[in-house]
Amino acid sequence: MELSGHMTKIVCTIGPASRSEAVLEELMKNGMDVARLNFAHGSLEDHREVIGRIRAIAAKLHRGCMILGDLPGPKIRIGKLQNQPLLLNKEDEISLTTEDVPGTAARIPVGYPKLPQSVSAGRTIYLNDGFIQLQVQEVSGFDVRCKVVIGGELLSYKGLNIPGAKIDLDVITEQDLGFVDFGLREGIDAFSISFVEKAADILKVRAFAKERGESLYVVAKIERVEAIDRIDEILNAADAVMIARGDLGVQIPLEDVPAVQKKLIHKANLMNRPVITATQMLVSMTQNVRPTRAEVSDAANAILDGTDAVMLSEETAVGKYPAEAVAMLAKIAASIERQREEIDALSDLAEYFRKGPGREGISAEETISLNAIETARSLNARYILVPTQNGDAARRLSRFKPGCWILSFCDDEKTRNLLALSFGVLPVLMKREERGDPDAVKRYLIDAGLSQKNDRLILTQRATAGRPDDIDSLRVLTI
Ligand code: PEP
Repeated sequence: MELSGHMTKIVCTIGPASRSEAVLEELMKNGMDVARLNFAHGSLEDHREVIGRIRAIAAKLHRGCMILGDLPGPKIRIGKLQNQPLLLNKEDEISLTTEDVPGTAARIPVGYPKLPQSVSAGRTIYLNDGFIQLQVQEVSGFDVRCKVVIGGELLSYKGLNIPGAKIDLDVITEQDLGFVDFGLREGIDAFSISFVEKAADILKVRAFAKERGESLYVVAKIERVEAIDRIDEILNAADAVMIARGDLGVQIPLEDVPAVQKKLIHKANLMNRPVITATQMLVSMTQNVRPTRAEVSDAANAILDGTDAVMLSEETAVGKYPAEAVAMLAKIAASIERQREEIDALSDLAEYFRKGPGREGISAEETISLNAIETARSLNARYILVPTQNGDAARRLSRFKPGCWILSFCDDEKTRNLLALSFGVLPVLMKREERGDPDAVKRYLIDAGLSQKNDRLILTQRATAGRPDDIDSLRVLTI
């Protein structure tokens, strides 16, 4: 038996680009551990065929492969487009309709009969994981007339999201239970549940399987605010979780996704639940044979965050380079895993600073900088104040990425401009005689509206004559 070159598990979504025997075998040889069948697409006959092929290839290669059936849940999708891709341009007027019509630039069918009741003028609607943004102009009968705010290319059956709207659909649909029934009969190993809100959603699917004498391995897809709010009960009820960043990034502000990812991975690790980080990992490889640097970093960072598995969606389902995408993820995983211990040891600079190799002879100003950061944190200081001649004193503090701003008083414009690059530093021009006087500094902060009564300030400065930017004192001031 041969060990894989990487330990992070790779989930591949199987679709038209990867359902042939030849490509499935390539995916498996290149590192696929889990094959995800997305029941939102393809017929049951297609899925049955793929399951048979995966089992046969795994047996031929003398290895296992999990088959994960993804239950689409109440995902609202547009219907079939007459010609695709359909290009929507900014300012275009289109109607979303609940009538069953062929999709055109004028009217696009939507598979949610209560759409007109769920929105009103002014509401934002997203298509295709948020890539296309519409604003509702008017609701009339079966139609919702919208203006395109952000345009893009649209394909048939893409998802539709209305953040903040109450969607009147069960999390577990009859159709989902039908897929579970099918999956159990076909020997699918595990099921992922979309749009989970609460533990009861998972228990409902478990109960359905139990009636058939089966117990399920359930992956809860975290893609709703409600799920984040009830993550403990969901983790307790599920066997594993997926951070479904596609829908999540529409349901919550996109910029909040990285923090949610890190916290969820941490929590899942803590509670002993395997976690999959999903969506857009190498999405540019849908079209290109090489990914972007940012995608490579994203995949590597998810692994450093502690994810068990990374997932490919359209990259392997409909992309031009499915086998290459898996091989790329495998290479990224192997590289970062080799360096994980070294990188983890570097992650807390203050700790490294104190105890890292060669740190025996650290200078007084370095020690005071570190103490300034710790004092600011423990006293919940408003600012760290640092007079500086050439910017070095401010940079010595900034590298520790403190939680409060560093106000750096300097007397020339060049120093001020160069401090633009340093994290958390607000450089302020102040005459030399004033910046050494704590009372003058306090007065300045109050007059500038930067500080108020009772604010704690940490002042680091040179108490005795010496080289510019040497720091040898640390004082706590209160406004
Ligand atoms: C997601 O939204 O990130 C996701 C994995 O779900 P799906 O691919 O089913 O939309």
